[in-house]
Amino acid sequence: MAMKEFLRTKGFKMTPQRDLIFKSFFEMDRHVSVDELYDRVRQLNSSVGYSTVWRNLKLICKIGLAEEVNLGDGVTRYDRVTKVPHGHMYCLKCKELIEFNVDHIMDFLTVTANENNFLPEGYKIEIQGYCAKCRETMSEDNGDRLT
Ligand SMILES: [Zn+2]
Ligand SMILES: [Zn+2]
Repeated sequence: MAMKEFLRTKGFKMTPQRDLIFKSFFEMDRHVSVDELYDRVRQLNSSVGYSTVWRNLKLICKIGLAEEVNLGDGVTRYDRVTKVPHGHMYCLKCKELIEFNVDHIMDFLTVTANENNFLPEGYKIEIQGYCAKCRETMSEDNGDRLT
């Protein structure tokens, strides 16, 4: 189904600006912030305002195509919803977000939920730490850390 029709089934109309914002979001790397999306959209059409970008990003979430990812650094990122859950590894230094496959632990999570008579509606699997690149620079800066 084209995005225009999909939107209509959700009760929203496609407009040229909305179309541009949606396309930009789905073309960008995953996990974009409002600022990043705004910069991208402005490159294509400088008349689009920040609040328009923000509202449309909220709309993309509302219709179930993206969700907010909050990692505690004050920046809300938006991640495309995928059918299969995935995990995030978050680097505390460079803020890089690396996705990983969680297939092999999904059974465990489902069983755990069942055992506790809990109905899962979503999964957030996150590992915080330092990526290889940052650990390298950190050990150069400070010889006795993370060697
Ligand atoms: Zn993700
Ligand atoms: Zn890093």
